[in-house]
Amino acid sequence: MFKLHAGECEHCSSTYRYSLWHSGFGETSYAYCDTCGQLATCATARFFPAMTPPHSPTYQVIEEEWESLLAPCSCGGSFSQNASPRCVFCQKKLSAEHAAGHIERNSLGASKGWRWQRNWNGIYCIAMEDPKMPGVLRQMIDPFARPWEAPRRKPLMRWPQMLSFSR
Ligand SMILES: [Zn+2]
Ligand SMILES: [Zn+2]
Repeated sequence: MFKLHAGECEHCSSTYRYSLWHSGFGETSYAYCDTCGQLATCATARFFPAMTPPHSPTYQVIEEEWESLLAPCSCGGSFSQNASPRCVFCQKKLSAEHAAGHIERNSLGASKGWRWQRNWNGIYCIAMEDPKMPGVLRQMIDPFARPWEAPRRKPLMRWPQMLSFSR
C-alpha cells in the first residue's frame, strides 16, 4: 500500500525510512506530535462533516481548532498544527528544507520538475517507519478524542450532511 524511501537525518546522520503521503488521495488532513513527531491523519469533512470547524482547510495540516478534538499521541504528546516530524533515532526535529533533497531525489516526478513543498504543513505529509518494527509506519489514524460527543457546534447539520454523502 505504501512505498518506503530512505532519508537522512541532518542531526545524527542516521538513515530513516519514511513514506510520503498526498493528503488528497486519502482525503485526510494531518498533524504531527509535538513531542515525538508521529503523524496523525484525520478523515476530513467528507467523513466527519459535523466535526469540521468552519473554514477548515482540507488536505493539509489541521486547523488549530482541531487540536482539541484529537486524543493525545501514543507517547503522551499532543498533535499540533505547528509540530514537525522528528528523526526516529535522535528525536530531533527534521528540517523540511534538508528533507527536500532526498524527497525530491526519491520521487519520480522530480525529474520532470516536480518540487516538494518544503514545509510540514502543505498537501504532503510524511510517516516514519518504526525502527523497531520494519515495514510499520508510526502513524495514528483518526485519533478523535470523543467522536460521539462532537460536535457541539452545529448538531442540526449533522444528519443532513451525512446523508448527502451516502447517496
Ligand atoms: Zn508522540
Ligand atoms: Zn537523527
